[in-house]
Amino acid sequence: MKNPMKRRTFLRLGAMTGLASGLTLQTAGAASDAAPATGQGVKRYVTLGRTGMKISDISFGSSRLRNGEERLVRHALDMGVNYFDTAESYTDGMSESVIGNALKGDRSRVFLATKMSAGSDTSADAMMATLENSLRKLQTDYVDIFFNHAVNDIGRLKNPEWHEFVNRAKAQGKLRFTGISGHAGHLAECVEYAVEHDMVDALLVATNFGEDPSFYERFTGSFDFVANQQALPGALEKAHAKNVGIVAMKVLRGAKLNDMRPYEQGGATYAQAAFKWILRNPNVDAAIISMTSTDQINEYLGGSGGLAVNDTDMALLAQYAAMTNMSYCRHACSDCEGSCPYGVSIADVLRTRMYATDYGDFAFARSEYAQIDHNASPCLSCDGKPCQDACTHSIPIAQLCGPTHQLLS
Ligand code: SF4
Ligand code: SF4
Repeated sequence: MKNPMKRRTFLRLGAMTGLASGLTLQTAGAASDAAPATGQGVKRYVTLGRTGMKISDISFGSSRLRNGEERLVRHALDMGVNYFDTAESYTDGMSESVIGNALKGDRSRVFLATKMSAGSDTSADAMMATLENSLRKLQTDYVDIFFNHAVNDIGRLKNPEWHEFVNRAKAQGKLRFTGISGHAGHLAECVEYAVEHDMVDALLVATNFGEDPSFYERFTGSFDFVANQQALPGALEKAHAKNVGIVAMKVLRGAKLNDMRPYEQGGATYAQAAFKWILRNPNVDAAIISMTSTDQINEYLGGSGGLAVNDTDMALLAQYAAMTNMSYCRHACSDCEGSCPYGVSIADVLRTRMYATDYGDFAFARSEYAQIDHNASPCLSCDGKPCQDACTHSIPIAQLCGPTHQLLS
């Protein structure tokens, strides 16, 4: 049961004291001399539910892949990655084209997933046109999974045109399996609906240690009011029971410019700990992550095959949570929805802020910000009072949204 006051108190204490009593954090010092454990590539392949596809447990996300970066895709392939996730909207279509260029000739060795954002009134013909455009860019006749992208509204799942499109595309051999992806509010509801109505073979969901109720049990005993996405574990369990394949994304909970090197010891890295946390979840099959350099690919794949989270990993995860709890807008949270009289899409604004301030990718952040229907321009002339207590995680919404508009518009 929610208890916002207690949660806020706890989080403020956490920020001051190192998350919670009973937790011993590593002390920040000089960056560890040990190089990150690179792991020599993929060590585990998993069956993605009813699709039967045997995919690399850590796979290639491409939301930031740009022209000329085919070598990154090839490096991941050489390291054993065989599942590549893209979307028609990523990097203005560059992502699909780069993957197509990089993997032509190797289509039979890999699984390809792409996405489109199909709305509640998108026609089957429009969906087909989008899929065919993706196939051209990917230089293939079919995709393995076609996701309805960033679903945060059950109304989008009720569109009968989606079913007509899927049946036609399957009959024409243009797609094998379907799914939904989600990282905004109402994620658990949408997952439950899609699973109950047997609409999906696979799910791509934003989830990470910091939104997993069980992460906090160690620190809070029987109190679980800190956690977010209380309904998501149950929804994923139901999906898994129906043999729906489940891929996690946003596993690092932001990261990148939140430099964890001073806390990393003995070659173990924060990213690897975050992967291990999510991959040990019996209801999660695999994870994708945006891979933006060969060093990063090597580091991330150091987490492949790791299903045990040790004390060093836990300390890194807890340190990161303590550093970011007051600024990280939780994926799939919608607790503040309706608090802004001007209708600002607070969660979307703060997600794009994360792309800029945490990932350091201003081009991607600006491109995503431009797609927000109700951006943060009203915040520039608002006193911030309506939303000042709206975040159940104590994020100072007004202080972050206004500057985000100035930064990204
Ligand atoms: S600062 Fe004002 S305009 Fe901006 S989100 Fe808060 S209430 Fe809405
Ligand atoms: S600002 Fe706070 S309440 Fe609003 S979506 Fe983000 S984490 Fe949830």
